[in-house]
Amino acid sequence: MPAPRLRSRSLRKVFRRVPGGRTSIHYKRKKHKQARCGNCGAVLKGVPRELPYKMRSMAKTKKRPERPFGGVLCSRCMRRNIIDKYRQ
Ligand SMILES: [Zn+2]
Repeated sequence: MPAPRLRSRSLRKVFRRVPGGRTSIHYKRKKHKQARCGNCGAVLKGVPRELPYKMRSMAKTKKRPERPFGGVLCSRCMRRNIIDKYRQ
């Protein structure tokens, strides 16, 4: 039976084969959901799905596309948003 703090469903089990040959269970944090477009809800590309401590050590340029509304809107919604803005 694992320790009470590990009996939570917010942790996922990872089965690891140890050098002795037996399998031990490691408990890891779950990853968050994939980033989605704020307008249409499509999955955003170029936005990594990583644990917070990995995101913290990652460069800002690796966390979202470098364009207006990168990491917020998908490319199609961004394009339409900008075209609508400058249309007379
Ligand atoms: Zn969109």
